[in-house]
Amino acid sequence: MTLDNFNFSGKKAIVRVDFNVPLDENGHITDDTRIRGALPTLKKILADGGALIIMSHMGKPKGKVNPKMSLGQIKDAVAAALGCEVKFAPDCAKAADAAAALKPGEVLLLENLRFYPEEEGKPVGIDKADPAYDEAKKAMKASQKEFAKTLASYADVYVNDAFGTAHRRHASTAVIADFFDADHKMLGYLMEKEVKAVDNVLNNITRPFTAIMGGSKVSTKIGIIENLMDKVDNLILCGGMTYTFAKAQGGKIGVSICEEDKLDLALEIIRKAQEKGVNLVLGTDCVAGDKFSNDANTQVCPSNDVPDGWEGMDAGPETREAFAKVIRESKTILWNGPAGVFEFDNFTAGSRAIAEAIVEATANGAFSLVGGGDSVACVNKFGLADQVSYVSTGGGALLEAIEGKVLPGIAAIKGE
Ligand code: AMP
Repeated sequence: MTLDNFNFSGKKAIVRVDFNVPLDENGHITDDTRIRGALPTLKKILADGGALIIMSHMGKPKGKVNPKMSLGQIKDAVAAALGCEVKFAPDCAKAADAAAALKPGEVLLLENLRFYPEEEGKPVGIDKADPAYDEAKKAMKASQKEFAKTLASYADVYVNDAFGTAHRRHASTAVIADFFDADHKMLGYLMEKEVKAVDNVLNNITRPFTAIMGGSKVSTKIGIIENLMDKVDNLILCGGMTYTFAKAQGGKIGVSICEEDKLDLALEIIRKAQEKGVNLVLGTDCVAGDKFSNDANTQVCPSNDVPDGWEGMDAGPETREAFAKVIRESKTILWNGPAGVFEFDNFTAGSRAIAEAIVEATANGAFSLVGGGDSVACVNKFGLADQVSYVSTGGGALLEAIEGKVLPGIAAIKGE
C-alpha cells in the first residue's frame, strides 16, 4: 500500500517518525530538520480525517527512563509544526486508553520508545561473552514482539517514516509491521523520497562520482569508505580523520585527534585507492588551534606538520581549494561528515567550502545527496539546504543503504 492510495478518514494511524532532534542543554531544539521532514506524511493523515499516533526514539537512554531524553520536551514544537494541539502519552506501552479516545484529526505523541529495552530488542545488563547471553537474547526477542504488538494494538494502520532508524530491526521500525496486513502498512513520504535519492546515487550514477567523508573518526566510517571505493571516482576524506592519515604516513600532528590503532587501516585505505584507481583526496594544510575552543589562537600549517601543542581543527585554504575543484567537476556527489569542528564559528571554512562547491555543482546539473546529522546541520547553518538536490535525514541508515544493504524497516513493509 502507498500513502497516496490510502484514505485515512476515520482511521487511527500509528506513525514511526525520527524525532531524534538535537537539543541544547535547556532542552531546546537546535535543528528541527527531522520534524519538518515528517510533516507531509503527518499532515496527509490529518487532512484525510485520520487520527495520529506519533512514536519516536530520542537519544540512547538504553532501556531506562531518562527525563533528559523525554519527547515531552518537543511536544510544543511538534504542535506548532502541525498547527494543532498534541496530546502526550507519558508511557508508550500504556497508551491504549489515550489512543482509544483519539478522535479524527487529533494527535497523540508517545513517550520515547527506547525507555523500554524491548524497542531495540537487545538484552540489558548481560555481556555477549556470558554463556546465558543467547537465552537472554531469545527472551528479549519474545518480549520485543509483545511490545510491538502493544504498539500495533493502538491503531488500524502502520506508517513508517523514520528513515533514520530504517537500518535497525527494532520493535517500532520493523517488528510491528508483522501485525498489519499488506494493505494496512506503508512507507511515509519522507521514506519514499529517501529511497529514491539513494537509488539515484546507487543505480543512476552520472560520473564523475565524488564522495566526501568527514567527521571525527575513521573507525565509524570504515565500512562505507571500503564500499564506496568500488563505486566512486573521487574520495575526499576530511575532518578529524585527516590526522590519522597524516600520522600513518609519518607526519607530525601535534595534539590533533588521532586513532592510534587505525594507522595501519589508513595505509590500507591509501593502498586500496591506488589499486582501484580511485582519486583519494586528503587535506594538505589545516587551520590549527592552540586549544579546542572557538576563541583559540589559530595558524595555518601543513596537515603533516602541526606544531607541538596545537591541533588541526579545520581544512586550510589550499585544501579547501583542492576539495572544491574536485567537487565542482562532479556529476554525482555524496557528502557525509564535516571537514572541521564546524560547531565553532571560527572553524567552519572547510565545511563551508565543501557546501558551496556542492551547491555550484548542483546548479550545473549534478545530483547531490547530503546526509548524516552533522553535514545536515552544516548545510542548514550555511543556509544552503535548499540548493542541494537532497538532504537526507538518515546517518547510519543512509550509509547502510549506500553500502547496498537491505534496510529492515523498508523490507518489513515491502516484504522483500
Ligand atoms: P562524526 O560524528 O564522526 O560524523 O563527527 C562529527 C564531528 O566531527 C563534529 O562534531 C565535528 O566537530 C568533529 N570534527 C570534525 N573535524 C574535526 C577535527 N579536525 N578535530 C576534532 N573534531 C572534528
